Amino acid sequence: MEMGLVSVDRWVQGSQAYFLTHLHSDHTKGLSSSWSHGLLFCSPTTAKLLPFKFPDFDLSLLRILHVGTTHTLSLRSPSSSSTTTVFVTAIDACHCPGSVMLLFRGEFGCVLHTGDFRWEVGCERARMAKQVLRAALGGEDGVDVLYLDNTYANPTYDFPSRQVAARKVIDLVKSLPDHDVIIGINSLGKEDLLVQIAMELNIKVCVWPERLRTMRILGLPDVFTTDTTITRVRAVPQCSLKIDTLETMNQRRPTIGILPSGLPWAKKYIQKGEFLSGSFLTSRYKRDKWSENSKDQSDKPIGNTGPPEQIHQHMYAVPYSEHSNYFEIEDFIKVVKPTSIKGIVSASECYIEPMHFFGRLCRVNQPKQDLHNRSEVKDSGKRVGTVSPETSLGDDVKLHRYGSGTSRIKLLGVRKRRLSVLIRKRRGVKIVDIDSPEIVGN
Ligand SMILES: [Zn+2]
Repeated sequence: MEMGLVSVDRWVQGSQAYFLTHLHSDHTKGLSSSWSHGLLFCSPTTAKLLPFKFPDFDLSLLRILHVGTTHTLSLRSPSSSSTTTVFVTAIDACHCPGSVMLLFRGEFGCVLHTGDFRWEVGCERARMAKQVLRAALGGEDGVDVLYLDNTYANPTYDFPSRQVAARKVIDLVKSLPDHDVIIGINSLGKEDLLVQIAMELNIKVCVWPERLRTMRILGLPDVFTTDTTITRVRAVPQCSLKIDTLETMNQRRPTIGILPSGLPWAKKYIQKGEFLSGSFLTSRYKRDKWSENSKDQSDKPIGNTGPPEQIHQHMYAVPYSEHSNYFEIEDFIKVVKPTSIKGIVSASECYIEPMHFFGRLCRVNQPKQDLHNRSEVKDSGKRVGTVSPETSLGDDVKLHRYGSGTSRIKLLGVRKRRLSVLIRKRRGVKIVDIDSPEIVGN
């Protein structure tokens, strides 16, 4: 937006109001317990969780944005120095708990920032969010600028709804009644998946102590425990779900690992130094199998879409994503009718300039952009995808495949900035930081 007015998920000094879309660490880089640059606006759930992430945060600086409510701010126009009114509406982003999109209106026009979002067709929450968004847009023809979660802004990225993906996880766990199950998750997000597993299998899900505290703050059903001895299903920080650990565990009890993620590619190794290659996504995740728009989909019972991908003897990947797939983004853009789009994830190894695919949907007919053009992106406000047990592991981890997949990736226009998500560590596979995507602030 206008420099010096408001910032979204960007924490450098100079703005008059700061907005946090959600608590994943790639959106809070620069925010700390000693924050003092200005008022911070966020959803009620984020406000509840924030003091646990930033223990000494000055809570008098927090302001709550209720979903569906338009708030009025009186700020000073940086250009004219006179008072200007900014209207901001929070809309459910259907990403992780507390996540919101933010619609700003004022003398600068109409600007929508999605934060990270999942716009599932057929999802009741997304349907409600669409209603709120349409109401907030009111008589507007569309938004002037859309700051878009472009994580999967490429037709290559197609994966099913979370409901379908959850079904696959549950079916897998049910099919292996004698196995322990380890599920890699982040410090926030994918709670619904764990609750569904617990409910369907009528068991508790073991989590680590901080995660249990988060579950309780979120008011989730009492299906979580920290007692590893009373359940065979356990969620662990994604970074600690390693092949070598699973192999060790299998010496005692049969154990599988599950990675729920919108991962488009996977690197597999068969044996030391040898990797499978090829597309993990396109050959298997056919749109006609997944899409809720597809007639085929409606005729099939959920879960009848093939088993999870076994990426190792003891490890499965399930395309459970909290980011929109390409077709959901397309649907979203048709609703908000932007004049221009700026991708907020700008340094992913898979970065795609959103105008390349979506410029045709903009109100002003935009020239087709180069796939990887990031001239709009500012250097500051980097999003960091560092995976560590302490940090909130924001985004779905993207797995990538080596070998001949690389040339295919080029054909598909996917930027391979840093190939490795899964790196071999002796005989194991370790999930590491894959991308340091930047986020366009202001
Ligand atoms: Zn996120």
